Amino acid sequence: MKPDFQDTIVAVSTPPGAGGIAVLRVSGSRASDVVQACTRGQALPPCRKASKRTWQHPDTLEVLDDVVVTLYAEGASYTGELTAEIACHGSVYVQRVVLQSCIDAGARLAQPGEFTQRAFLNGRLDLAQAEGVGDLIASETAAAHRLALAQMKGSLSSALSTLREQLIAFAALIELENDFGEEDVEFADRLKLSQSVQELQGEVRRLRETFSAGQAIREGVTAVIAGRPNAGKSTVLNALLAEDRAIVSDIPGTTRDTIEATLVIEGVKFTLVDTAGIREASDAIEQLGVARSLEAVSRASVLVYVWDAAMTQPAEVGEDLAQLRNPSVPLIAVANKMDLHPYDKSDNYSGFGVSPQEFTPVSARAGMNLGLLKQRLFEFGVGEVPPRGSAVVTQARHVESLSQAAQALDRVAAGLSSGLSGDLIALDLRQALHHIGEITGEIGTDDLLASIFSSFCIGK
Ligand code: GDP
Repeated sequence: MKPDFQDTIVAVSTPPGAGGIAVLRVSGSRASDVVQACTRGQALPPCRKASKRTWQHPDTLEVLDDVVVTLYAEGASYTGELTAEIACHGSVYVQRVVLQSCIDAGARLAQPGEFTQRAFLNGRLDLAQAEGVGDLIASETAAAHRLALAQMKGSLSSALSTLREQLIAFAALIELENDFGEEDVEFADRLKLSQSVQELQGEVRRLRETFSAGQAIREGVTAVIAGRPNAGKSTVLNALLAEDRAIVSDIPGTTRDTIEATLVIEGVKFTLVDTAGIREASDAIEQLGVARSLEAVSRASVLVYVWDAAMTQPAEVGEDLAQLRNPSVPLIAVANKMDLHPYDKSDNYSGFGVSPQEFTPVSARAGMNLGLLKQRLFEFGVGEVPPRGSAVVTQARHVESLSQAAQALDRVAAGLSSGLSGDLIALDLRQALHHIGEITGEIGTDDLLASIFSSFCIGK
């Protein structure tokens, strides 16, 4: 159902359940009427001044709670509308009755993300910033928080707006040429134009390339630990976590099910998935584990293949990797149990079919080289972290729009070099502008907006 933005809406903005206090938000032209109806006989609080009031049920007029009401004038609130924030005691009962009394007094229950959607529609923030708000609320780690905050503050939006301005200036030159087309004048020097297009293409590409780090920081990185039974996978996992999360035992194949654990490296969340051993699938449960191993690798961002460096031959490592390697998943090849000194000469390191960047000798038991393993996890899972506050693309939706814009710019470049007429080039330029505008919501469809805001929770 499409929300009606004339309505006054209400929702509990704090998490569900009992708490010390709960905050409800009422937004829309009737927000102060709602407060008035439930605080009868008391003056309406002045704007932006937290004021204690007695909340009554609008029908029975019975006292429900002492609350703190803060009013925000139209144009000076998060949504841009007249807004009331009601902080009541956090009992589930009190929250429910305050909510119901707001509804009885003329507000309706907000849909998920409707406060932020209204903020967007009222020009308080653009779409990329609104997504930043959603990400900020969802952020679990320092890096995800930092990225979301920068996006909310407009880091991506301002980079896109610069890009838009450049495109518009470029389009203006071409259009000028069109206006005088019949006089056969070329105002814009085509060589210079080609150079400008190249710069614009470079800028779009640069933004697109920030996605892999942006996505890793925003969503976290999944690393799958795979290898033969007894290679030391659980021990590696435990050593990384520095706690006994997985069960470590000497009997091959004891880690039957996948175990997931969370590790934070430099503020980025890593989910480590320890899979069942990939060999010696003698019974049905183990068989299932092997299939799960392969499946987990296909969904992972990084594969950590662990082998027992004292026991497993290079050819066997090669065989396993032939099965496990996925060209789109970077590999960290962990030679474990190095405390047993299996490779004493540098020659011994070759023959595994892994590159020096992938080859990571450790001893999980002795805690040797775990720092290197963490460093590789970060390098392969996140890559280069964009500078603080810089524009970073975090959503598949942004990448899609940037790709479309890049294609349109490719057509502009091709058109310029083949001497295509200005009006045709202008069409492609407008396409590029259109796709850049999609990211910030200057160009948008109701469907797109609905799908973005419905992913928020109610009260946001
Ligand atoms: P998994 O089956 O691959 O999960 O292997 P485990 O983590 O259960 O380890 C199998 C055995 O190898 C256990 O006895 C571990 O204590 C031992 N182990 C694991 N890592 C090391 C290591 O770095 N050095 C030595 N010497 N033994 C290890």
